[in-house]
Amino acid sequence: MGDPHPKIEARAVTRVFGRAARAVHALGPVDLTVAPGEFTCVVGPSGCGKSTLLRIAAGLLRPSSGELRIRTNARRPAAMIFQDYGIHDWKTVLANIRFGLDVQKVPRREADARAAHWLDRMGLTDFAAAYPAALSGGMRQRVAIARALAVEPEILLMDEPFAALDAQLRTILQDELLGLTQTTRTTTLFITHSLEEAIVLGDRVLVMSARPGRVIAERRPPFPRPRTGAVRATPEFAALTSELWELLRGEVGAGAAA
Ligand code: ADP
Ligand code: MG
Repeated sequence: MGDPHPKIEARAVTRVFGRAARAVHALGPVDLTVAPGEFTCVVGPSGCGKSTLLRIAAGLLRPSSGELRIRTNARRPAAMIFQDYGIHDWKTVLANIRFGLDVQKVPRREADARAAHWLDRMGLTDFAAAYPAALSGGMRQRVAIARALAVEPEILLMDEPFAALDAQLRTILQDELLGLTQTTRTTTLFITHSLEEAIVLGDRVLVMSARPGRVIAERRPPFPRPRTGAVRATPEFAALTSELWELLRGEVGAGAAA
Protein backbone atom coordinates (compact mmCIF):
# COMPACT_ATOMS: atom_id res chain seq x y z
CA MET A 1 0.00 0.00 0.00
CA GLY A 2 3.02 2.32 0.18
CA ASP A 3 3.33 5.20 2.60
CA PRO A 4 0.27 5.27 4.87
CA HIS A 5 0.99 8.73 6.30
CA PRO A 6 -0.63 11.78 4.80
CA LYS A 7 1.83 14.07 3.05
CA ILE A 8 0.00 17.14 4.28
CA GLU A 9 -1.91 17.22 7.54
CA ALA A 10 -3.56 20.31 8.99
CA ARG A 11 -5.20 20.23 12.39
CA ALA A 12 -7.37 23.12 13.53
CA VAL A 13 -5.20 25.62 11.69
CA THR A 14 -6.20 29.27 12.11
CA ARG A 15 -4.58 32.52 11.12
CA VAL A 16 -5.31 35.98 12.43
CA PHE A 17 -3.60 39.04 10.94
CA GLY A 18 -3.09 42.13 13.08
CA ARG A 19 -4.07 42.73 16.68
CA ALA A 20 -6.95 43.69 18.91
CA ALA A 21 -9.55 45.88 17.20
CA ARG A 22 -7.75 45.62 13.87
CA ALA A 23 -7.41 41.84 13.96
CA VAL A 24 -8.58 40.03 10.81
CA HIS A 25 -9.53 36.42 11.32
CA ALA A 26 -8.40 35.20 7.91
CA LEU A 27 -8.59 31.44 8.17
CA GLY A 28 -9.94 28.47 9.95
CA PRO A 29 -10.08 26.41 11.93
CA VAL A 30 -9.19 24.10 9.04
CA ASP A 31 -8.57 20.37 9.14
CA LEU A 32 -7.13 18.85 6.03
CA THR A 33 -5.19 15.78 4.98
CA VAL A 34 -3.65 15.00 1.63
CA ALA A 35 -2.63 11.39 1.02
CA PRO A 36 0.50 10.43 -0.94
CA GLY A 37 -0.08 10.90 -4.67
CA GLU A 38 -3.41 12.60 -4.14
CA PHE A 39 -4.43 15.75 -6.01
CA THR A 40 -6.53 17.91 -3.70
CA CYS A 41 -8.18 21.09 -4.90
CA VAL A 42 -9.44 23.88 -2.67
CA VAL A 43 -12.06 26.32 -3.92
CA GLY A 44 -13.60 29.21 -2.06
CA PRO A 45 -14.72 32.80 -2.39
CA SER A 46 -12.22 35.58 -2.83
CA GLY A 47 -10.59 36.60 0.45
CA CYS A 48 -11.59 33.44 2.35
CA GLY A 49 -8.01 32.54 3.26
CA LYS A 50 -6.94 30.19 0.44
CA SER A 51 -3.57 31.85 -0.14
CA THR A 52 -3.07 32.07 3.60
CA LEU A 53 -3.61 28.31 3.88
CA LEU A 54 -1.16 27.60 1.07
CA ARG A 55 1.46 29.94 2.49
CA ILE A 56 1.17 28.13 5.81
CA ALA A 57 1.60 24.79 4.01
CA ALA A 58 4.68 26.15 2.24
CA GLY A 59 6.19 27.29 5.53
CA LEU A 60 6.08 30.94 4.48
CA LEU A 61 3.63 31.87 7.22
CA ARG A 62 2.90 30.51 10.69
CA PRO A 63 -0.54 29.50 11.85
CA SER A 64 -1.91 31.53 14.77
CA SER A 65 -3.09 28.27 16.29
CA GLY A 66 -3.23 24.64 15.28
CA GLU A 67 -0.64 22.70 13.38
CA LEU A 68 0.25 21.94 9.81
CA ARG A 69 2.64 19.11 9.06
CA ILE A 70 4.16 18.41 5.70
CA ARG A 71 6.04 15.15 5.24
CA THR A 72 8.71 15.04 2.59
CA ASN A 73 11.60 12.76 2.15
CA ALA A 74 14.61 14.93 3.11
CA ARG A 75 15.92 14.99 -0.45
CA ARG A 76 12.63 15.70 -2.14
CA PRO A 77 11.42 19.22 -1.49
CA ALA A 78 8.00 20.76 -1.72
CA ALA A 79 7.67 23.30 -4.52
CA MET A 80 5.29 26.19 -4.73
CA ILE A 81 3.86 27.92 -7.78
CA PHE A 82 2.23 31.29 -7.28
CA GLN A 83 -0.52 32.95 -9.23
CA ASP A 84 1.90 35.68 -10.35
CA TYR A 85 4.49 33.08 -11.43
CA GLY A 86 7.31 34.10 -9.06
CA ILE A 87 9.95 33.76 -11.76
CA HIS A 88 12.97 36.06 -11.91
CA ASP A 89 12.88 38.60 -14.71
CA TRP A 90 16.63 39.18 -14.61
CA LYS A 91 17.41 35.52 -15.31
CA THR A 92 17.04 33.70 -18.59
CA VAL A 93 14.47 30.95 -18.95
CA LEU A 94 17.19 28.34 -18.54
CA ALA A 95 18.65 30.07 -15.48
CA ASN A 96 15.19 30.23 -13.93
CA ILE A 97 14.73 26.50 -14.39
CA ARG A 98 18.25 25.80 -13.12
CA PHE A 99 17.71 27.95 -10.05
CA GLY A 100 16.01 25.37 -7.83
CA LEU A 101 18.45 22.68 -8.92
CA ASP A 102 21.41 24.86 -7.99
CA VAL A 103 19.85 25.63 -4.61
CA GLN A 104 19.52 21.88 -4.09
CA LYS A 105 23.13 21.40 -5.19
CA VAL A 106 22.18 18.92 -7.88
CA PRO A 107 25.42 17.98 -9.73
CA ARG A 108 25.90 20.04 -12.86
CA ARG A 109 25.49 17.34 -15.47
CA GLU A 110 22.33 16.04 -13.93
CA ALA A 111 20.99 19.58 -13.51
CA ASP A 112 21.70 20.28 -17.19
CA ALA A 113 19.89 17.12 -18.21
CA ARG A 114 16.87 17.83 -16.03
CA ALA A 115 16.63 21.43 -17.17
CA ALA A 116 16.78 20.29 -20.80
CA HIS A 117 14.07 17.72 -20.14
CA TRP A 118 11.68 20.25 -18.62
CA LEU A 119 12.42 22.87 -21.26
CA ASP A 120 11.42 20.30 -23.83
CA ARG A 121 8.39 19.07 -21.95
CA MET A 122 7.05 22.62 -21.56
CA GLY A 123 7.82 23.53 -25.17
CA LEU A 124 10.45 26.09 -24.14
CA THR A 125 13.60 24.68 -25.73
CA ASP A 126 13.80 27.46 -28.31
CA PHE A 127 13.44 30.06 -25.56
CA ALA A 128 16.15 28.82 -23.18
CA ALA A 129 18.24 31.97 -23.63
CA ALA A 130 15.30 34.40 -23.62
CA TYR A 131 14.36 36.64 -20.70
CA PRO A 132 10.86 36.25 -19.22
CA ALA A 133 9.87 39.80 -20.23
CA ALA A 134 10.01 38.67 -23.86
CA LEU A 135 7.52 35.84 -23.26
CA SER A 136 3.74 35.66 -23.26
CA GLY A 137 1.87 35.08 -20.01
CA GLY A 138 1.32 31.44 -20.87
CA MET A 139 4.99 30.87 -21.56
CA ARG A 140 6.00 32.60 -18.34
CA GLN A 141 3.65 30.31 -16.49
CA ARG A 142 5.26 27.31 -18.18
CA VAL A 143 8.65 28.55 -16.99
CA ALA A 144 7.30 28.64 -13.44
CA ILE A 145 5.91 25.11 -13.80
CA ALA A 146 9.14 23.80 -15.34
CA ARG A 147 11.17 25.39 -12.55
CA ALA A 148 8.98 23.84 -9.88
CA LEU A 149 8.85 20.39 -11.46
CA ALA A 150 12.56 20.23 -12.34
CA VAL A 151 13.40 19.83 -8.66
CA GLU A 152 11.19 16.71 -8.73
CA PRO A 153 9.18 17.84 -5.75
CA GLU A 154 7.41 15.30 -3.67
CA ILE A 155 4.66 17.81 -3.00
CA LEU A 156 3.40 20.53 -5.28
CA LEU A 157 1.67 23.55 -3.79
CA MET A 158 -0.11 25.69 -6.36
CA ASP A 159 -1.91 28.96 -5.68
CA GLU A 160 -4.23 29.81 -8.58
CA PRO A 161 -1.41 29.19 -11.03
CA PHE A 162 -3.56 29.68 -14.12
CA ALA A 163 -5.77 32.53 -12.92
CA ALA A 164 -4.00 35.20 -14.98
CA LEU A 165 -4.26 33.28 -18.25
CA ASP A 166 -6.93 33.36 -20.92
CA ALA A 167 -9.46 30.54 -20.99
CA GLN A 168 -7.89 28.64 -23.87
CA LEU A 169 -4.40 28.59 -22.39
CA ARG A 170 -5.79 27.69 -19.01
CA THR A 171 -7.45 24.65 -20.53
CA ILE A 172 -4.24 23.59 -22.27
CA LEU A 173 -2.18 23.92 -19.10
CA GLN A 174 -4.81 22.13 -17.02
CA ASP A 175 -4.60 19.21 -19.42
CA GLU A 176 -0.80 19.25 -19.26
CA LEU A 177 -0.84 19.32 -15.48
CA LEU A 178 -3.31 16.44 -15.47
CA GLY A 179 -0.97 14.36 -17.63
CA LEU A 180 2.10 15.30 -15.62
CA THR A 181 0.77 14.64 -12.15
CA GLN A 182 -0.77 11.35 -13.26
CA THR A 183 2.58 10.08 -14.52
CA THR A 184 4.64 11.40 -11.61
CA ARG A 185 1.99 10.75 -8.91
CA THR A 186 3.00 14.03 -7.31
CA THR A 187 1.05 14.92 -4.19
CA THR A 188 -0.61 18.23 -5.02
CA LEU A 189 -2.50 20.89 -3.10
CA PHE A 190 -4.07 23.16 -5.66
CA ILE A 191 -5.89 26.39 -4.88
CA THR A 192 -8.30 27.81 -7.40
CA HIS A 193 -11.42 29.92 -7.56
CA SER A 194 -12.57 27.97 -10.63
CA LEU A 195 -14.92 25.08 -9.93
CA GLU A 196 -14.36 23.64 -13.41
CA GLU A 197 -10.61 23.62 -12.86
CA ALA A 198 -10.99 21.91 -9.49
CA ILE A 199 -13.32 19.24 -10.90
CA VAL A 200 -11.12 18.46 -13.91
CA LEU A 201 -7.96 18.16 -11.84
CA GLY A 202 -8.89 16.97 -8.39
CA ASP A 203 -9.22 13.58 -6.76
CA ARG A 204 -10.99 15.65 -4.14
CA VAL A 205 -12.48 19.12 -4.16
CA LEU A 206 -12.74 20.95 -0.85
CA VAL A 207 -15.10 23.91 -0.68
CA MET A 208 -14.25 26.69 1.75
CA SER A 209 -16.66 29.08 3.44
CA ALA A 210 -16.37 32.86 3.29
CA ARG A 211 -13.71 34.33 5.61
CA PRO A 212 -12.61 32.99 8.00
CA GLY A 213 -12.38 30.06 5.60
CA ARG A 214 -13.33 26.65 6.87
CA VAL A 215 -13.89 23.48 4.85
CA ILE A 216 -17.66 23.21 4.41
CA ALA A 217 -17.89 20.44 1.82
CA GLU A 218 -15.86 17.77 0.13
CA ARG A 219 -16.60 16.02 -3.16
CA ARG A 220 -14.80 13.40 -5.21
CA PRO A 221 -15.24 14.02 -8.93
CA PRO A 222 -16.45 10.64 -10.28
CA PHE A 223 -13.79 10.31 -12.99
CA PRO A 224 -11.30 7.45 -12.81
CA ARG A 225 -7.57 7.95 -13.43
CA PRO A 226 -5.92 8.33 -15.77
CA ARG A 227 -8.33 11.04 -16.74
CA THR A 228 -8.26 13.56 -19.56
CA GLY A 229 -9.84 16.93 -20.23
CA ALA A 230 -12.63 15.07 -22.05
CA VAL A 231 -14.42 14.75 -18.69
CA ARG A 232 -15.45 18.40 -19.12
CA ALA A 233 -18.06 17.32 -21.67
CA THR A 234 -19.79 14.75 -19.45
CA PRO A 235 -23.14 15.17 -17.68
CA GLU A 236 -21.45 14.23 -14.37
CA PHE A 237 -19.13 17.20 -14.79
CA ALA A 238 -22.01 19.60 -15.36
CA ALA A 239 -23.94 18.15 -12.42
CA LEU A 240 -21.04 18.47 -10.00
CA THR A 241 -20.26 21.99 -11.22
CA SER A 242 -23.78 23.18 -10.50
CA GLU A 243 -23.90 21.38 -7.17
CA LEU A 244 -20.68 23.04 -6.02
CA TRP A 245 -21.74 26.36 -7.49
CA GLU A 246 -24.85 26.32 -5.30
CA LEU A 247 -22.68 25.76 -2.23
CA LEU A 248 -20.27 28.49 -3.24
CA ARG A 249 -22.98 30.95 -4.16
CA GLY A 250 -24.26 30.88 -0.58
CA GLU A 251 -20.75 31.69 0.63
CA VAL A 252 -20.13 34.48 -1.84
CA GLY A 253 -23.41 36.03 -0.67
CA ALA A 254 -22.39 35.59 2.97
CA GLY A 255 -19.02 37.24 2.32
CA ALA A 256 -20.56 40.18 0.48
CA ALA A 257 -23.06 40.78 3.28
CA ALA A 258 -20.43 40.72 6.02
P1 ADP B 1 -7.77 34.30 -0.79
O1 ADP B 1 -6.45 33.77 -1.27
O2 ADP B 1 -8.77 33.23 -0.48
O3 ADP B 1 -8.36 35.33 -1.70
P2 ADP B 1 -6.15 35.42 1.36
O4 ADP B 1 -5.62 34.23 2.07
O5 ADP B 1 -5.22 36.12 0.45
O6 ADP B 1 -7.52 35.04 0.61
O7 ADP B 1 -6.65 36.47 2.43
C1 ADP B 1 -7.60 36.15 3.45
C2 ADP B 1 -7.87 37.38 4.29
O8 ADP B 1 -6.72 37.74 5.03
C3 ADP B 1 -8.24 38.62 3.47
O9 ADP B 1 -9.19 39.35 4.21
C4 ADP B 1 -6.93 39.37 3.39
O10 ADP B 1 -7.15 40.75 3.23
C5 ADP B 1 -6.29 39.05 4.73
N1 ADP B 1 -4.82 39.04 4.66
C6 ADP B 1 -4.06 38.22 3.91
N2 ADP B 1 -2.75 38.45 4.10
C7 ADP B 1 -2.68 39.47 5.01
C8 ADP B 1 -1.61 40.17 5.64
N3 ADP B 1 -0.33 39.86 5.39
N4 ADP B 1 -1.94 41.15 6.51
C9 ADP B 1 -3.21 41.45 6.79
N5 ADP B 1 -4.27 40.82 6.24
C10 ADP B 1 -4.01 39.84 5.37
MG1 MG C 1 -5.37 34.07 -3.01
